Amino acid sequence: MKNLKTVGGILSVCIIISSCGVNKAISDKSTSSKEKEKLSHVAINTPDEALTELKSGNQRFMTNKMVNTNYKEEILETKDGQHPHSVVLSCIDSRVPPEIIFDQGIGHIFDARVAGNIIDPNELGSLEFATEVKHSKLIVVLGHSKCGAIEGAVNNVQLGNLTQLLSQIKPAIVGDPAHKDEMLEQTTIKNVQLTIKNILDQSPIISGLVKEGKVKIVGAYYDISTGKVNFL
Ligand SMILES: [Zn+2]
Repeated sequence: MKNLKTVGGILSVCIIISSCGVNKAISDKSTSSKEKEKLSHVAINTPDEALTELKSGNQRFMTNKMVNTNYKEEILETKDGQHPHSVVLSCIDSRVPPEIIFDQGIGHIFDARVAGNIIDPNELGSLEFATEVKHSKLIVVLGHSKCGAIEGAVNNVQLGNLTQLLSQIKPAIVGDPAHKDEMLEQTTIKNVQLTIKNILDQSPIISGLVKEGKVKIVGAYYDISTGKVNFL
């Protein structure tokens, strides 16, 4: 009985070891394919490559196949410096976290966030730091569905410092008030377009980089009900 138990014990150990081996092989394989995808973001050298990576990242997010989720590893990789390929100007909405919806992890993108994704001198200075100083290749102005700031502007909300913030969105108001949902979507997209225009008009540094082809600015619209980013 004792011998049988021992044999059984040895067998169990063998089964565990061999199944661990298989698991390890599977895990090594998936790690190496993940590593391949992760390496691609490090080698981003052009605005178009940055845009392709953000589109791929949103696709990974949509299909729940994120690769940039090892934050401990990313802390180590970025502790001595940062080289984010893009800067995303987006709303403060808690349902629109750029690193997550573009599957970018730590150190891959700059975030500039303000309700209604508008610009002011502080936001512009941040974008200039990202592009001129840190050589980010792409600026994304990201609006989103069900935006409280857009709705506030359309509804002429008056509240403390929010009043002046919303007044900056008002030039973007378009559409038919009888069709509120469409009006809000159209206004959100117009607001993205006006923000891009304001960036180019008000920052000679950024408009110069765009003219030289070193930086691209694109607008995008995030649907909070699907997780999909549509580039405009
Ligand atoms: Zn919003």
